[in-house]
Amino acid sequence: MKYEHDRQASEEILRLLIQKMAEHPAAFTPQSYAVWYEYVTGINPALSETISKLLDSGEKLDDASIERLYLKFVSECNMDVEWALREDIQQLLKKLAESTKETDNQAHRFDTSLHVYGDTLKQNPDPASLVFLIKNMADDTNKMIDSMQDLQSELAVSKQKVEKLHQELQSARGEALIDPLTGILNRRGFENSAKIIFADQAALGKGLCLLMVDIDHFKTINDTYGHLFGDKVIRAVAKTLKSKIRGQDSVARVGGEEFALLLAETDISGARTVAEYMRQTIEDCTIHRIDAQENIGGITISIGVAEYTSGNSLVDLLGHADKALYASKKQGRNRTTVYADPKAL
Ligand code: GH3
Ligand code: MG
Ligand code: MG
Repeated sequence: MKYEHDRQASEEILRLLIQKMAEHPAAFTPQSYAVWYEYVTGINPALSETISKLLDSGEKLDDASIERLYLKFVSECNMDVEWALREDIQQLLKKLAESTKETDNQAHRFDTSLHVYGDTLKQNPDPASLVFLIKNMADDTNKMIDSMQDLQSELAVSKQKVEKLHQELQSARGEALIDPLTGILNRRGFENSAKIIFADQAALGKGLCLLMVDIDHFKTINDTYGHLFGDKVIRAVAKTLKSKIRGQDSVARVGGEEFALLLAETDISGARTVAEYMRQTIEDCTIHRIDAQENIGGITISIGVAEYTSGNSLVDLLGHADKALYASKKQGRNRTTVYADPKAL
């Protein structure tokens, strides 16, 4: 089934949808609903990208544009995406098979020449022939190395492509990876990107840290200023966290007011600095409350930081960061705790 959200999740989506639809002149038709539904849930990346571009350029969506978007991206699209992906996978496999075969042939040729060189050596060649033989051996070895290297880089590129195709396929099947409220990864998206990092020994070797972030006293914020303002706070925190990370890092909303970040090529002291920078930025900001025309400050977050060490699983790392976050809460909130620091726990 294309839409898999349960009653509670779809209520949340409905709330977001109505806000979005109200900003545009198109009628509230089922088509319009479907377009906005797929946009806010992020389950249709091609549609989301096109709408985001239109919105960025200040465009208001009327009946005609909704109709176009519906026909192009919603009505027939999922089948097309699956077919296109299938073609991509077939091409990828064909290319890999060709490279593997070439390396295999090269290995056979290399094996045969090694036997010939062995036989020649047994016949005690004179020094001039020996020099010639060694040069040929070196040439053949280099050819073999080149062929292996080609295959290796081909494999590395293929691995990346397969990971990307996997994500695209999941999106095409409606398994959303994006959180509709904030536009950052959701828990599933986070687990996906963590899996990719954890499968890459080279990336792990360069250092990896996990930050768990939780908004302090968020229930009170909701109770005092209302649910809509609460949503605005969640969006503002997500935006701030996202603005402080680098391209290879990931940030996700993993719970109501909880976020997880993976920082690549970062050691524990770097991660603590980033965490403190994030915490301080949020502490210093104020958020505008439109209905009461006032700016609300004093919003804070607590953070737990954990560093990957050899043999840790993602679950271990999440557990460590969670413990550190719990310590931050226990010690008064609005602070960062590092798991490696036993005194702090
Ligand atoms: P602490 O400092 O210990 O983290 O306290 P807290 O109040 O932040 O934590 P608690 O877990 O008690 O409350 C979290 C609240 O977040 C409860 C829930 O109603 C609210 N919440 C969860 N998801 C959303 C959402 O999407 N939007 C809004 N506005 N509130 C949400
Ligand atoms: Mg919480
Ligand atoms: Mg909280």
